[in-house]
Amino acid sequence: MTRRLVLATRNAHKVTELHAILADSGLDVELVGADAYPEIPDVKETGVTFAENALLKARALAAGTGLPAVADDSGLCVDVLGGAPGIFSARWAGKHGDDAANLELLLAQLGDIDTPHRAAHFTCAAALALPDGTTRVVEGHLHGTLRTTPAGANGFGYDPILQPDGSTLTCAELTPAEKNAISHRGQAFRALTPLAADLLA
Ligand code: IMP
Repeated sequence: MTRRLVLATRNAHKVTELHAILADSGLDVELVGADAYPEIPDVKETGVTFAENALLKARALAAGTGLPAVADDSGLCVDVLGGAPGIFSARWAGKHGDDAANLELLLAQLGDIDTPHRAAHFTCAAALALPDGTTRVVEGHLHGTLRTTPAGANGFGYDPILQPDGSTLTCAELTPAEKNAISHRGQAFRALTPLAADLLA
């Protein structure tokens, strides 16, 4: 029987990525975005780790809808900045979701720091919560180097400046399928899928 699974995100880019990743996984679920439940307020991301925030979002949506819910929390961790912007990636320049301002500020903060010192990685924590309180959470990472100027028009957020290790392109120059195959979000959700299949069987 096809089960309904709610995705705890209102980020259209993320919904598209997650749809593609979960559709490829073979998990027999009908995916519904959180926008289908406007009466359920967004939860405050008060955790101090990606995993805590992903669990907060998944638990709140499962409790509010009575359906199994998945959520992710993700961000960019820059080595030379001690892991920042990290969980604050979406609002690094002050306003939540202003991708252009976030990227510009980060580039300014890195100034003329040389390429060997521009290592960074995307992290994604993917969480599943059931209405009975059962939870699972896993993480994925995509390591690379930050460019000094943005390149590419695909993706979102910091994609135009993260060049994955082993690639000559930035994430924003990869096709969505190429990015999903190596991305932190792809890895995390592919790891979550068998756990979800077990719990939803
Ligand atoms: P979240 O919505 O709280 O998970 O915040 C995610 C933020 O981290 C986004 O707004 C982006 O700034 C950044 N981010 C996470 N994943 C990616 C990605 O795949 N590409 C580019 N930026 C990302």
